[in-house]
Amino acid sequence: MNIIVKKFGGTSVSSASKIKNIAKKIVEESSQNRIVVVLSAMGKTTDHLVSLAQKCSKNPDPKDYDLLVSSGEQVSISLLSMAIKELGRDSVAYTGWQAGIKTNNAHTSARITQISTDKIKKDLKNHRIVVVAGFQGVNNGSITTLGRGGSDTSAVAIAAALNAHECQIFTDVEGVYTTDPRLCNKARKVDKMTYEEMLEMSGLGSKVLQLRSVEFASKYNVPVRVMHAHVAGSGTLIKKEERSVEDALITGIAFAKDESEIMIRGVQDSPGIAASILGPIGDADIEVDMIVQNVGSDGLADFTFTVSRKDFNKAIQVIEKNKKNMNYNDVSATKNIVKVSLIGVGMRSHAGIAGQMFSCLARKKINIRMISTSEIKISVVIDQKNLENAVKALHNEFKLERK
Ligand code: ASP
Ligand code: MG
Repeated sequence: MNIIVKKFGGTSVSSASKIKNIAKKIVEESSQNRIVVVLSAMGKTTDHLVSLAQKCSKNPDPKDYDLLVSSGEQVSISLLSMAIKELGRDSVAYTGWQAGIKTNNAHTSARITQISTDKIKKDLKNHRIVVVAGFQGVNNGSITTLGRGGSDTSAVAIAAALNAHECQIFTDVEGVYTTDPRLCNKARKVDKMTYEEMLEMSGLGSKVLQLRSVEFASKYNVPVRVMHAHVAGSGTLIKKEERSVEDALITGIAFAKDESEIMIRGVQDSPGIAASILGPIGDADIEVDMIVQNVGSDGLADFTFTVSRKDFNKAIQVIEKNKKNMNYNDVSATKNIVKVSLIGVGMRSHAGIAGQMFSCLARKKINIRMISTSEIKISVVIDQKNLENAVKALHNEFKLERK
């Protein structure tokens, strides 16, 4: 029998009746597969615990904080184990430390360092369904947590350690979509994609999986399937690249609305200028995403880059403070931009995708402010007001509504 790890998120275990529902499905499947279930806390429990912590302390001790916020999962796993037993199957529920999940000591965003699987393997052999608390582990006797959304990573890590056949992440959508269905009603569920594509999709704002879980899955080659908790379907399978000719060139369109653009005008076009601008920005711990420099006929250059909106004010302050060194004429900056990206490993072997993307946007009279490319991604920065138009046009252009 195959080992399958199944992770259920907060909304799919938000009530006793939903937990009983899941128990029923798991018990049914347990005649074909050996099952390990990883759970998140019920509904909005973790948010509630975080807000309680904030009420008691401005700056809680990370160990106290982890002890508190990890408690939600202890509730959901115990309830599921009870519900499974009620249906006549044997099960066992483990917190992170009981399951042997060891982490480093970076409380509140710890990383899993080791999982001892002997106990779980023995339980599975004895026909028990094993239920494990996600989001938590142990370091030196203290409970740690893996960062918000961390139970995805727990599930993938357990699947890797058990060499499971598949890690199934159940959520409230039917899978990963070609783009956000709220923006483009032709968005379609993708049947399969590679780890790289998923990393780009989740890094660019489609928040189906915790980013770290995809990195983990890729590193240990764990097939991950994202699927709906209460609607039947095959979901989206995320796995190693294995392309065939019928595969689509483009897998999806992601966008990021949390960027802003800063243009520094009239700097000297001489060696060292990029360093003199980006040095102080980096020193202030501000991450720069895209960078463009254009040189005018007067020998002066304009230097434009994007930073996350949360760093916008800080970046402007740094630039104003360093005006003398940077030696520029003026600065113009805006938060009203977005980044739209076309993603697909099929791009690797195809020229001309960028050209097709740019002409499509040109036909829609959408101005491109900046461009960046990687092997499997082309990103453009455009005005925020054009977002919906651009995504719809590109979705059409690359025929993403079709399989
Ligand atoms: N319960 C935790 C959270 O809300 C972990 C998770 O849901 O994955 O962040
Ligand atoms: Mg989640």
